[in-house]
Amino acid sequence: MFKALVVNKDEDGKTSAAVEEMTLDQLPQAEVTVAVEYSTVNYKDGLCIGPGGGLVRNYPHVPGIDFAGTVEASDDDRYKPGDKVVLTGWRVGEAHWGGYSQKARVKADWLVPLPAGLDTRQAMAVGTAGFTAMLSVMALEDHGIKAGPVLVTGAAGGVGSVATAILAHLGYKVAAVTGRPETEGYLRDLGASQIVAREELNETVKRPLEGETWGGCVDAVGGAMLARVLGQMEYGASVAAVGLAGGAGLPATVIPFLLRGVNLLGIDSVMQPYDNRLRAWERIATDLPMEKLEAMVRPATLADLPQLGADILKGQVQGRVVVDVNAG
Ligand code: NDP
Repeated sequence: MFKALVVNKDEDGKTSAAVEEMTLDQLPQAEVTVAVEYSTVNYKDGLCIGPGGGLVRNYPHVPGIDFAGTVEASDDDRYKPGDKVVLTGWRVGEAHWGGYSQKARVKADWLVPLPAGLDTRQAMAVGTAGFTAMLSVMALEDHGIKAGPVLVTGAAGGVGSVATAILAHLGYKVAAVTGRPETEGYLRDLGASQIVAREELNETVKRPLEGETWGGCVDAVGGAMLARVLGQMEYGASVAAVGLAGGAGLPATVIPFLLRGVNLLGIDSVMQPYDNRLRAWERIATDLPMEKLEAMVRPATLADLPQLGADILKGQVQGRVVVDVNAG
C-alpha cells in the first residue's frame, strides 16, 4: 500500500481532494514505475486540484505535474531500478496520474535522468516552474539579450523567482515586477537589482510604444501587463511568454513588432523533446546557485496540497513549494 492525493468528482460535478491509500495495480499502465520522493505545486496543479478541473481528463485523478524519485521497476532498457529520474510535462498530472503519490508509473520517454549536481529534492525545488524559467532564459539567449535590464514579471512566483536567480547569476541586471511590495528583500536576495511595482505596468498608458527600456523579458503574467511591456522593449529585444497569471487576453497592437522588431517567443515546457529537456536540466545544475534555490523553498506534505492549490491560484504562493510525498 502507498499514499496518494486523489481528486474525485461527484454526480453534481463537485470535486474533492483527499489523501488515500492505494495499491500498485491501480496505477496506469506504462513502462517505468518510480518511487516518488518529491513533487511541487505549480499553477496548473492548482487548477487540477481545485473545482476548475478543466485540465483533468478523467476522475478519480492523481495530480502533480512533476516529480523526482528512484526507478523501482522498468520494462525499458534506458532505465533500471535505482536510477534517479526527474519528470516534467507530457500532461502527467492532467491526462495521466502524476506525482502527488508515493508511486508513479509513466512512459520512459517522459523521464530524464537526474543531472549530476542535483539531488531529487533540489530537482523539485526547481520543478516545472524552474525548468520553464531555464527554457525562457535559453530562448532569450538564442535571440540575443540587449543592453538594458531583463524584466521578469510575476517575479515572486515560481517561474519568476527562478528566472530572477538564473539571470542574475549569468550577470544580467534583473528588474523584478511584483504586486507584493513585502517581497522586495526576497527578490533582491535572489539577485534583482530593480523592483518594479505591478501598478507601474498598468493599462493607463494607451501609446503602443514607450521608451526603449528592457533588454529582454521573462513574462509569467500575460494579459494587459504583457501588452504594455511589448511597447517598452529595446529595438530587436525578445519577450519569453510563459504564463497567464494576469489573464489570457492580449490587448496589444502590432506596432512593437513592426517598428521595434520585438520578438514574442512562446515557451512550452510540456512537449519539449528529450535533448532539450536534458540540456535545460544540465544548465539548471550549473547556472542556478543552490543557496538561492534554498531561499525560495517552502516544504509541504500531501495533506497540505488542497490548501496550497487554492493559494497558488490566488497568486499567494511565494517561490517554490516542495512536496515531500513520504512525509506527514
Ligand atoms: P505562481 O502563482 O507561483 O506565480 C505567478 C505570479 O504572477 C504570482 O506570484 C504573482 O507575482 C503574479 N500574479 C498573479 N496574479 C497576477 C495578476 N492578476 N496580475 C499580475 N500579476 C499577477 O505561478 P508559476 O510561477 O508557477 O506560473 C506562472 C504562470 O506560468 C502560470 O500562468 C502558469 O500556468 C504558467 N506556466 C507555464 C508553463 C509553460 O510551459 N509555458 C510552465 C509553468 C508555468 P507577484 O506577487 O510577484 O506579483
